[in-house]
Amino acid sequence: MKILVAVKRVIDYNVKPRVKTDGSGVDLANVKMAMNPFDEIAVEEAVRLKEAGAATEVVVVSAGTSQSQDVLRTALAMGADRAILVETAADLQPLAVAGLMAAIVEREAPQLVLLGKQAIDNDAGQTGQKLAGLLGWPQATFAFKTEFADGVLTVTREIDGGLERVALDLPAVVTTDLRLNSPRYVTLLNIMKAKKKPLDTLTPDALGVDVTPRLTVLEVTEPPPRKSGIMVSDVEALIEKLRNEAKVI
Ligand code: AMP
Repeated sequence: MKILVAVKRVIDYNVKPRVKTDGSGVDLANVKMAMNPFDEIAVEEAVRLKEAGAATEVVVVSAGTSQSQDVLRTALAMGADRAILVETAADLQPLAVAGLMAAIVEREAPQLVLLGKQAIDNDAGQTGQKLAGLLGWPQATFAFKTEFADGVLTVTREIDGGLERVALDLPAVVTTDLRLNSPRYVTLLNIMKAKKKPLDTLTPDALGVDVTPRLTVLEVTEPPPRKSGIMVSDVEALIEKLRNEAKVI
């Protein structure tokens, strides 16, 4: 089984994003970037499936500027075999990324495509579902556990009040949830080895995919500043404030 994994370069989750003064978006100048955390989980799962003998090759794909090579190299250091960068400076919305991934699926013919459940920068949570729709493939979203046997992939999903298990015929699309696994740390040795692994570059034009945005972002604003807290002298004072000022009890 060949596995394709989508990895996005986003603002590092430890960084507090700053909104541009003109409200047109988030300021990315001199900000630490990293692989989207859910995509790290997807790479880890693919590499584990390969280590367990269920997969033969793991190919990682990122769409974005040439700087996205750094997250592809990280994925290669984690154990992926090959990387593809779809290089573009365009503002990529989920439908465009799904279209690019569908075009790569046509070339690479994987049996499984793994994506994160959401990119932590736009919080769209749409790309995996749109990709499955474009391909007409079965999908399991928010995977908590995967098992592969006899050509069938069983995915356990965390749902309200319990766990749901679904069986998928391959080829299929799966999106990863937080508790699927804990991604490994990359060692210096593997970072060095990853430099020798193949990284091909394509463009949306070469793939015949129109990535023109379909949505216009009207405005991005900072959340309202939180009011500072106050100290109360005792429990009675707290209850009085909750009842008469906050009116929550
Ligand atoms: P989203 O629908 O934007 O929340 O993203 C969901 C998932 O789609 C991410 O976790 C990635 O696996 C994948 N994805 C989104 N944008 C990109 C991108 N530019 N390059 C590669 N994968 C992406």
